[in-house]
Amino acid sequence: MEYDSIQCISTSDGLAEEEIQHHHHQFSSSKIHNVNVVPSTTTSVHDLLECPVCTNSMYPPIHQCHNGHTLCSTCKTRVHNRCPTCRQELGDIRCLALEKVAESLEFPCKYCPLGCPEIFPYYSKLKHELICNFRPYSCPYAGSECSVVGDIPYLVTHLRDDHKVDMHSGCTFNHRYVKSNPREVFNCFGQYFCLHFEAFQLSMAPVYMAFVRFMGDEEDARNYSYSLEVGGNGRKLIWEGTPRSIRDGHRKVRDSHDGLIIQRNMALFFSGGERKELKLRVTGRIWKEPPNPDAAVGPCIPNLSL
Ligand SMILES: [Zn+2]
Ligand SMILES: [Zn+2]
Ligand SMILES: [Zn+2]
Ligand SMILES: [Zn+2]
Repeated sequence: MEYDSIQCISTSDGLAEEEIQHHHHQFSSSKIHNVNVVPSTTTSVHDLLECPVCTNSMYPPIHQCHNGHTLCSTCKTRVHNRCPTCRQELGDIRCLALEKVAESLEFPCKYCPLGCPEIFPYYSKLKHELICNFRPYSCPYAGSECSVVGDIPYLVTHLRDDHKVDMHSGCTFNHRYVKSNPREVFNCFGQYFCLHFEAFQLSMAPVYMAFVRFMGDEEDARNYSYSLEVGGNGRKLIWEGTPRSIRDGHRKVRDSHDGLIIQRNMALFFSGGERKELKLRVTGRIWKEPPNPDAAVGPCIPNLSL
């Protein structure tokens, strides 16, 4: 075999298409907006370190079959001891040469096409990528398993077109909620904010909760504040807070109770006393905070879990 010496770094050549499709990870099959081409000097080596089965980057232990086809340790556990490329028995062979090659390399962050300028040794790249500020955002639509990712302008379009979310311009809002779980996006100060409203159980008691999330990173979210007001029958509840970044999942914000919480009996009272129908009017405002030199000292996320 004339290619013996390089076979342990073979790529996806010869791999059945359906195999790739089948194992394709959610992230790599999702849409990323504005992707340019990664510089070609790193592409070839990078390709060698890409698992031909799942297309994720491979980290030690990197495995290979008797014929030298490589695959990542996650895929190895899934293929029932059969090489996905040549269908031979897989065995338990590590590809140390490729692991050593990887160790000696530096790569740009995988979000380099989205603007990240950072370069890392291969094995610390993954750590950075989990927190990279240029990583795409997940779709903030609540209560769905939507897997769309992208930058903010892309997600705004997606929310409007695919989730039929209402778009508003301006920093104040006045909304009448009936039963449904509406979602709205506000455009003010050139930024986008999502208004959430939902019902859940808080220590066995049904409550309603409203909160605002910022479509951007937490660092930038701190530049804004918002207030929510709900009332009726001569009573009023007011909440003032910092919008949470959409990096924090909808559920995480909800579970930290970081928003306006309305007990169900109070909500019905606001809705008009005896009525069983929920009719809340929520008004709100978003404003920009003056630059605060202390802002960098601590995170704005309160630990409100009870
Ligand atoms: Zn894999
Ligand atoms: Zn093989
Ligand atoms: Zn990065
Ligand atoms: Zn979505």
